[in-house]
Amino acid sequence: MKVALVKAPFKFKVEDWDIREPDDNEALIKVKACGVCGTDLHSARTEAREWQSFGHEISGIVEKVGKNTTNVQVGQKVVVESGSFCGECSNCRNARVDLCNDAPNVIKNVELGYNMGFAEYVTVSKRNLVPFDGLDFATATLIEPMGVGLDLTYVTDIELNDNVLVVGLGPIGLMALRFAKLMGARKIFAADLSTSNIRLQMAKEFGADEIIEVDKTSLEDYEFDCPLNKIMVTAPPKTIESAIKIAALGATIGYIGIKYGEGAKIQFDANYFHFQKLQLRASFAAPAIYFPRCLELTQVGKINPKMLITHEFGIEEIGEYIKYIDEHRERAIKAIMINE
Ligand SMILES: [Zn+2]
Ligand SMILES: [Zn+2]
Repeated sequence: MKVALVKAPFKFKVEDWDIREPDDNEALIKVKACGVCGTDLHSARTEAREWQSFGHEISGIVEKVGKNTTNVQVGQKVVVESGSFCGECSNCRNARVDLCNDAPNVIKNVELGYNMGFAEYVTVSKRNLVPFDGLDFATATLIEPMGVGLDLTYVTDIELNDNVLVVGLGPIGLMALRFAKLMGARKIFAADLSTSNIRLQMAKEFGADEIIEVDKTSLEDYEFDCPLNKIMVTAPPKTIESAIKIAALGATIGYIGIKYGEGAKIQFDANYFHFQKLQLRASFAAPAIYFPRCLELTQVGKINPKMLITHEFGIEEIGEYIKYIDEHRERAIKAIMINE
C-alpha cells in the first residue's frame, strides 16, 4: 500500500509499505478520505524532524477485524477517533472520560513505526471506530475537527442570548461559530485577517452577524455595540490579552491553540481579571469526543461541514497541496485526500 511521509521543512514522499494485520482488538481500515489539519501543516513546517507518517482525520471502510473486534463489521463505513478513552481508569469511572489519555491513540502510531491516515490502509484499535451512514467520506473526515469545535463551544459555556466573539476562522473556529448560533447566541462577531476572505464569507454563511478585519481595526479599537459575554479564541495566544480587555463583566473566554517559543507567553492584569469576574478556560479535545453527536448534527443538516472543503487531492499530490494551502490561506479552508 501507499503511505505518504513528511519531513520538515515541507518535504514529502510516498512509499510502498506492507499492510499491518490487525491484532485481536484492532481492525484494518481501507482509508477513503483523510483531512489536512493545522497540526499537519505544523509538522510539515517544523515538527517532523525525521520522515514520518501523518494524517488523523480519517474516514474509510472496515476491511478486516480482529477476533475481539465486534463493535464494527467488515464493509461498514467508519470515522476514526484520533484518540479514545479506556473506560477503566479513575478519570473514566468518575465520568471524566475527557481526562483519560490511557487509551488507543492513532497519533501514537508514529512512535510505534506504524502509519497514520495519509495512506491506503490504516490499522487501528476497535475503540477508535465509530460507524456512520448517510455522509460522503470527505465530509465524514470533518467529524474529527468538528468534535474539537464543539468542545470549545461547551468549554466556553455558550448559552441562549449570549453575545459571542469568535477570533480565528479556521475550520474549528468556523464550526464553533456555527454551534454558537445553534445554541441561541444573540449576536455573533467573527474576527480574522481581511486577507482570509473565503473564511470571512464562510463565517457569514455559518451565522456571523458582524465581521471584524483585525488587520484593519484591532479588537481593542473595534466599537462593539453590545457586551461580549463569551469569546472563543482559535488564534495566537496574544489574542487572549485583547480578549481579556474587551470582555464583558463576568465573561468567559475559551481558548484552543498551540504556540511554541516566546509567542506562547502572555501577560494580563490579574486585578482587572479579578474585579471583572472573568473566566479563562482551555479546550483540548483529546481524547476525541462527541463523534456520534457531530455525525447526527451533520446528517440532519444543522451544520454543513462540506462547505469548508475547498480542495481534494490524491495521495501522490499531497506535497503540492499541503504547500499550496499553507501559502494560500485566502483561498483554502480544508483540503482532503481522497483515495479512489
Ligand atoms: Zn486535527
Ligand atoms: Zn480511562
